[in-house]
This record gives sequence, structure tokens and C-alpha cells, in this order.
Amino acid sequence: MAKQGNIQIASENMMPIIKKWLYSDKDIFIREIVANAADAITKFKKLADMGECAADEGGYRIDVRVDKDAKTLTVEDNGIGMTEEEVEKYITQIAFSGAADFLSKYEKAGGEGIIGHFGLGFYSAYMVSENIEIFTKSYKEGAPAVHWESDGESTYTIEECDRTARGTKIVMHIAKEEKEFLEQSIIRSLLEKYCAFMPYNIYLDASGKEDEKPVNDTQPLYLKNPKDCTDEEYLDFYRKVFHDYHDPLFWIHLNMDYPFRLKGILYFPKVKSKVELERGKVKLYCNQVFIADNIKEVIPEYLLLLNGVIDCPDIPLNVSRSFLQNDRQVQKISKHIVKKVSDKLTGLYKTDREKYEKCWADLSVFIKVGCLKDEDFYAKVKDIVIFKDLDGKYKNLEDFRKEQLPAEEQAAEQEAPSAEAGEESGKKENADKPVTVYYVSDEVGQAQYVSMFRAAGLNAIVCDSFVDPHYISYIEYKESGKFRFLRIDADVDAALKAENSADEEADKALADAFSKSLAVEGVTVKVERLKAQDVPAVINVAEFARRFGEMNAFYGMEGADADRDMTLVLNAANPVVQAFLSLDEEKKTFVAKQVYYLAKLSYKKLSPDEMKDFSANSVQLLGKFVG
Ligand code: ADP
Repeated sequence: MAKQGNIQIASENMMPIIKKWLYSDKDIFIREIVANAADAITKFKKLADMGECAADEGGYRIDVRVDKDAKTLTVEDNGIGMTEEEVEKYITQIAFSGAADFLSKYEKAGGEGIIGHFGLGFYSAYMVSENIEIFTKSYKEGAPAVHWESDGESTYTIEECDRTARGTKIVMHIAKEEKEFLEQSIIRSLLEKYCAFMPYNIYLDASGKEDEKPVNDTQPLYLKNPKDCTDEEYLDFYRKVFHDYHDPLFWIHLNMDYPFRLKGILYFPKVKSKVELERGKVKLYCNQVFIADNIKEVIPEYLLLLNGVIDCPDIPLNVSRSFLQNDRQVQKISKHIVKKVSDKLTGLYKTDREKYEKCWADLSVFIKVGCLKDEDFYAKVKDIVIFKDLDGKYKNLEDFRKEQLPAEEQAAEQEAPSAEAGEESGKKENADKPVTVYYVSDEVGQAQYVSMFRAAGLNAIVCDSFVDPHYISYIEYKESGKFRFLRIDADVDAALKAENSADEEADKALADAFSKSLAVEGVTVKVERLKAQDVPAVINVAEFARRFGEMNAFYGMEGADADRDMTLVLNAANPVVQAFLSLDEEKKTFVAKQVYYLAKLSYKKLSPDEMKDFSANSVQLLGKFVG
């Protein structure tokens, strides 16, 4: 005769909460049930190891079966099993003993984002089931098998049954609204997601054939000793777990036991597009059970651009995310990961510079974002942030600084690179002067400036990714007084000047006349003698003014005009400019416009109106030429 009973503890309160708790993530019931099955096997194995019972010759396994007709999803293990008493204790009572605890923690966390589980694992299956049956037989000799059944609301039945095999079978009668959990393909993908690395073979709808493959990998590579892993294995694991056609650049195998346990592999993926950084995936596991993707509380957000798996049994999972963020242990783990990543990068920089430079395009954004987000990371990697110069050579900022020193100081630095030595020899003054680093943010758009720079024997670095403006400002702030960054078009007169003016008054007269003919508001005209004679004029916008304008534009502010402080630098060394004053008024207007638009074109795009005017002017000029 089946015994009946009421489920202990105010379960009327529990079900709605469990349902709401996991509502956004119903799927995880499968993890809970399969993880229980795996735990049951582990317990049995332990007993066998201790000689309490005979080990299982046939091997341990978990079977998941979907039966669409019967509308059931079944999970069966050959683990330790339960006696009737244990079912009463662990399922009917104990499962709820954490309930009060759960309730209070859950409420404290505001009901969101609890990432672990609360000893309510089994009951999470009620999110998708209208009824659940348990058939179980304990490993204990002579203990009869038990059948338990409940709709999860408030009553249950328990009775003996005729199960002969050791272990437990959980039969979930799937609710009408949750039909998807009767689809084999859905269950397969859930098992692949949550149970991919569980330690015992899991079979889905096994047919009994000899060569059947489990859905999981019970010995994931990350558990192995790094010494014993080959490159091919790392790449295979990557492809299997991340389904990425592109091989990763390199990887880091984390493996530590003290002061916390942490195992895992982090892969540096190839970044496919610079602007639209594909978000990576770092999967967090706890004892081979999947917990969540991209937990930024455990791994700094910028590291989430990586792909990887991390298994960390020491992370307290039965707490809310906001608690995790402030947990000391979690902070230590996070710091350790950051250190490992920076060690790997600096190691590569030192030992295989060629590979490092090859990977740089893919690493650069990740490293720079990391620097912006995390001062510690910046301190560790700042010297391995490299920039490509106009010759295509890579250098770090320190290399640039040294290059800019006068020859005798370069020699002095080489002999005595320490700070004190510099002071002693009276070089302090120079060391305090910021080194000017010219940069190009758009090699094509700024080609005119680039060629003038090259002609003048100057070099610049290429800073063309979206993080570069932020990174540059960050360096100026962090290394205050050491570096000054100027875009290649921000310092034209100083950088490219051939000589000083011999007759400032004449220059002023030329500038005024040009300005009058040009008649464009807000453009200051100035005359200089530039090294490149073939260029009649260039636009110069002061670095600060341009950055301010860009920032305003970025934040969508009113009056965001980056050109406010635009100067047209006329090149008095150029024949067209030299002839300007001798032209008649009509020609002056044409020439002024043409010179201005040409200069502006190599600075930025023209507006539609300007473009129209420029075309008309050009056509008219052509007319003059043929007529
Ligand atoms: P938790 O797993 O967090 O303890 P659960 O509600 O999932 O909470 O399970 C409660 C208890 O029921 C487990 O601790 C275990 O003792 C028992 N149990 C659940 N599933 C099984 C199983 N498949 N085999 C044996 N015992 C089980």
C-alpha cells in the first residue's frame, strides 16, 4: 500500500518562487537532475573505493531518454540509490530544509541573478513537469526499491516497487506548456551546454549499440596536466567547444590547487572585425558542471573578449552576483587570471617577438581596452603595447622616446640607463620634457600629410582603431608629462617648417589678401615656408581643439564643430602661392578656393555644399585652361 503524506515545510510558498527564480533560465533543471545523478555515482564509487561495497564492473553511466508519446523525460543513473528512509529524508524533507535559507537569500538578492543552486536542485524539475516519479534502489543489500511520486504542489506517495537495478530513475512528466522538452534535439543541446564535461558518460536515447558515443567529454583537456597536452589537443578542444573555424592565436592553461582551485584554458581568438569586436565566451564550471557564460564578476570584463573554460570549485555559487563581486576569494581568483594573462603576453613579447607582432592586430584592441579598464593590467603590459610606424616597424613608446633623444643622450642612456645616472649628468631637464609622438589616425585620409612627413624625414605611429583615441589620452594622463600625442595634421607649421619668415609683414599681407579672396568664415589663414614645395597649403587643427570637438560630437553635444580652430597654412615655398598676389581679383578667388578645397580634401571629407562648390570651381578653372 502506498503511503501518502504532505510535503514538509510551506511548500505552497516554494513552488511559485522556484518557478519565478528560474523562470528566465528554466533549462537548468536538466543540469540539476543530471548533476544529482553524477553525484550519486561519485558517492557510490567512493564507497566502493573504501571497500564498503563491490565496484561496478559494467561501468558508470547516466541515461537520458525522451518519450514523446508518454510525454516523459527520464534521467537514470547507476549510482548509490536511495532507501525509503533516504527518499523521505532527502527528497521529501531535506530538499526543503534549505528553503527558509533560500527564501531569505533570494529576497536579499532582489530575486535576480542567483547563479548557483540551493539544494533545491531536484525541485527545479517542477518548472517543466506536472508530475515527477522517482524509482530508486539503494546499494545497501536487502533494501527494497522505492517508488515516489508527487505533483510538487503539496502531496506525495511513496511505496515499494520492483526495480532491481541499483541506482535512481527520475521520470519527469512534462507539462503541456513545456512540450519543447520532449524534443530530442533540444535536450541534446541542453546536455551539450550544461553537461558537456560531467565526469560520467551521459547517453541520450541510447540504443544499446556497442560503439555508441556519449554526449559529454568526461576528461576535458583542461583537467589534464599542461605538461601532457599537445598543441593539437588544445586546438581540437577549442574547435569542439567554441565551433570557431579560425584557430586561436595562442592559449593559457590555468592549473592551480592552492590557495584556491582553478583549472581552465583561455584562448586568444583572432579578432575578426576591429570595430565590431565579437564577444568571446568564457564558460564557468564548478566541478565539471556548467554554471554560466561570461561571468564578469569572476573574470574582468575585458578578458571576456577571450574564449575559454574555467573550472573553479571554490567560487561561492549560492549567492547573488552582486555579492560575488565583493567576495575576497573571487577577487583573488580574478587577479590571478589577470596575472596569468599578462604573464603570457609579456612572455610571448620577450621570447617570440615575431609571433607577437604578427598577432598584434588581433591583440591590440583587447590589450588596450584592458589597460583602460584595469590599472594593474596596464602596469603589467604597458611596455608591450606596440605601435606601427610609417615604415611598418613596430615599437613601444619607450623606443619612441629614446629615438627622439638627441644622439649624445641616446648614448648616455645606453651606458647608464638608470634614473639617477641621468640626473647626475644633468639630463633631468630633458627627461622632463614631454616627447612628442605624431600619429596618423587614417593612413588614406591623411596621406598628404604622411607624404609631407616622410619628405621631411619625420616618422609617426599609426593609431587607427576605435580605442586609440582613448588609449592616447590615457597614456598622457598616466604617464603625465612624458608623452605628448599630436595627430599628424595638428602641428604642421612646427613639424614641417623649412625656415622662419624673412618678412612677417609681407606674409601677413599675403594671408590677408588670400583670406579676403577666399571669404570662408572661421578659417584663419597663415603663411609659412614648408619643406614640401609642391604643396600649396595644408589645414592645421590644434590637437586639443580637435579632440574637444570629437568628444563633443561623440556625446552628441550642440555646436560640435571640430573645425572651429582650423588654420589654413599657406606654403610660401610653393609657386602658386608665390604668384597669388600678382593675379587679378577673379583669378584670386578661383585660386584661393581651389587651394583651400584641396587642402581641406586631404584633411577630411567636404560637405555636400562644399563639394558642389569645389566641382563648379574646378570646372570653371578647366574652362580657363582651355580657353
Ligand atoms: P542537492 O543536490 O543540492 O543536495 P537536490 O534537491 O538536488 O539537492 O537533492 C537532494 C538530495 O536528494 C541529494 O542531496 C541526494 O541525497 C538525493 N538525491 C537526489 N537525486 C539523487 C539521485 N539521482 N541518486 C541518489 N540520491 C539523489
